[in-house]
Amino acid sequence: MAKYANVIIDISHEKLDKTFQYKVPGELQGNLTIGMQVEIPFGNGNRRSTGYIVELTDTPAYEVSRLKEITGVVKDSIPIESQLIALAGWMRKNYGATMNQALRTVLPIKQKTAVKKQRLVRLAIGQKKAAEWLASFEKKHNTARARLLSSLIEQSPLPYEVVTRRLHMTASVIRAMEGLGILTVEEKRTYRNPLGEMEQGGTRPVLNEGQKRIVEQVWQDFSKEQYHTYLLRGVTGSGKTAVYIEIIEKITGAGRQAIVLIPEIALTYQTVLRFYQRFGDRVSILNSKMSLGERYDQFERAKNGELDVMIGPRSALFTPFSNLGIIIIDEEHETSYKSETMPRYHARETAVERARMAGASVILGSATPSIESFYHARSGEYKLLELEKRIEEKPLPECYTVDLREELRRGNRSILSEKLQELMEQRLKNHQQIMLFINRRGLAGFVSCRACGHVMKCPHCDVSLSQHAGGSMVCHYCGYTQEMVTSCPECGSKYIGGFKAGTQKIEEVVKKRFPGTRVLRMDFDTTRRKDGYEKILSTFANQEADILIGTQMIVKGHDFPNVTLVGVLAADLSLHVSDFHGPERTFQLITQAAGRAGRGKFPGEVVIQTYSPEHYAIKLAAKQDYYKFYETETAYRNLMHYPPCGHMMVMMTASADEMTAFLSMELLAKKIQQAQDKGRLPGLYMIGPADAAVAKIKDIYRRVLYFKHQEYGTLVHMKDVLEQFINSHREFRNVAVQFDFDPMNGF
Ligand code: ADP
Ligand code: ZN
Ligand code: ZN
Repeated sequence: MAKYANVIIDISHEKLDKTFQYKVPGELQGNLTIGMQVEIPFGNGNRRSTGYIVELTDTPAYEVSRLKEITGVVKDSIPIESQLIALAGWMRKNYGATMNQALRTVLPIKQKTAVKKQRLVRLAIGQKKAAEWLASFEKKHNTARARLLSSLIEQSPLPYEVVTRRLHMTASVIRAMEGLGILTVEEKRTYRNPLGEMEQGGTRPVLNEGQKRIVEQVWQDFSKEQYHTYLLRGVTGSGKTAVYIEIIEKITGAGRQAIVLIPEIALTYQTVLRFYQRFGDRVSILNSKMSLGERYDQFERAKNGELDVMIGPRSALFTPFSNLGIIIIDEEHETSYKSETMPRYHARETAVERARMAGASVILGSATPSIESFYHARSGEYKLLELEKRIEEKPLPECYTVDLREELRRGNRSILSEKLQELMEQRLKNHQQIMLFINRRGLAGFVSCRACGHVMKCPHCDVSLSQHAGGSMVCHYCGYTQEMVTSCPECGSKYIGGFKAGTQKIEEVVKKRFPGTRVLRMDFDTTRRKDGYEKILSTFANQEADILIGTQMIVKGHDFPNVTLVGVLAADLSLHVSDFHGPERTFQLITQAAGRAGRGKFPGEVVIQTYSPEHYAIKLAAKQDYYKFYETETAYRNLMHYPPCGHMMVMMTASADEMTAFLSMELLAKKIQQAQDKGRLPGLYMIGPADAAVAKIKDIYRRVLYFKHQEYGTLVHMKDVLEQFINSHREFRNVAVQFDFDPMNGF
């Protein structure tokens, strides 16, 4: 029963920080929630105004006698802003952040430069009158006026810029003719349309039985106002996107709107075109290359009812559609759906919450659903839908696993195994294309034995130890440290070290081994320039290159029918990342990479190179056995209490002073340890403190402390208590504290 409410009056970027505190009158206490629109007296004259509640509290921030009272609740309409603010409140609570950070995430940022006005010059008189004027200008050798008028007779209106730049008219000529009443200059606010030049048309596929069944089920539930979260597991190329488009068409036909989240990397021209061909100008996109102004425009168009469908990465989730009907998250297993800035929200969970608030359905789609989502599908929280077959029953590719230890024993030290070289040679001869994939995700600083494949692991956390400068190996969860080994504890081999191979190195090796082949490289270097990414993709799609070498960028959703061989050069790079997601990432990457092969006329083959051929993630990925992988992986996580079989929270302290960062964390850990010793925190595991995976960024030192508990809610509560403690102790004056729940990329 909060007694005070913080209210924002005007939702615009500049004023978001500016909240005003009001007293909650007795009759409203207990009836107010975050996001509600309320009536309030404002300013010196106590002008009647409205505002949005962003926080409710029991502790007044000012002298109570000076606070004014909320006079009422606005009832008749619930603006979309109310819903988004309520969502911000939910995010703040569940992910840890200030309300201001949460508001900035969900509300579009208004930019002063955002307004782009189009000026038009329009003929203001009839054709007959115009012809008379024209004759008179020509007679007086008023060539400029004559030229402008004859252009306008031909076409009206004309954009102002065309008149000035193309026809070379000065402003004074235009003004003079406006003064004569011949033309008018009008201003119209326009919103930038990022899809301006796309072509409409295209064919509509006839859905197969499996696709139809799924469309029907979602649509029937929707029609009965049963809004569920569905998990659509469909192998690569099974026609998921076609299903999304069909469902969206039905839902927008019913006057509701749709948000489609697609990882930025998969948001290609091809994909967007498919949506554009069905929805035309009623669809728009967001992406990170757009300016804030452009992004704001797209949100305004959505709010004004000009759009039915918004496609974009994570942030498109906050599109202010007032009658949202469905949210679709494609490639739902992607780590980019987790925010890396405060609030560190997960788009999947946040989408489910937004849909709950709006009365909308959610579809999560993937060929390799995240363990979390499949877990929810198993428990019945999500409804499972499946597409088992590729379109036209194209077979999934044949997978070969190559043991790199074996290669070494046979004296092959190349990055390319014999099997891979042999198949590459074949493909080049047959003019088919090849993709070589190297995973460079995260910090692949693990240490392993090249002879037997043994990987150095933390004895407490079962994650790979990371190589540190100064000759030690460290666990990023608990801080366990060990001297760098010089020989393998398993087999005694001295051939031990980190694994290093970049795209550039591979390019060299490939060019040397297959002289004269046309090789393309896609990585952060070659795609930094605008359009670099699309250009490489289209060159490869046009078969102007034989081999595409790339990082995880190349495995996402591209359709190259002539690719019949995919090489995964070092599956171990994702297997031994220093957190518990290693096996899951590896299974996903191999499956996605394999999904690139054999999408056209010819069947595909995949070569997986690894030092750990017996690892379940690799074995089961080669067999494309998702179910078995899920069972094995959840058994392991259950044992270790890793999400989703339990929950994790990581707290980070950061300070410019190394000692301060260190001591502040020690203090917190000690406090929690004391509470645990008294039996106060049952079921809680504390791990650490340790240096963050990135222990220092821009001279700011970072320490982390991990917690595990069965209940998410308990961890949220713990965060609240810790925040309070931190805010009320001077020791934390110069310390920034951040929280992350069920971390994916870590600190
Ligand atoms: P996914 O999203 O599961 O990878 P897509 O929807 O992209 O699958 O479909 C793969 C390819 O098959 C695309 O080229 C698509 O146009 C085509 N396709 C999808 N559904 C059908 C269908 N029912 N009949 C024929 N072609 C289809
Ligand atoms: Zn060894
Ligand atoms: Zn550890």
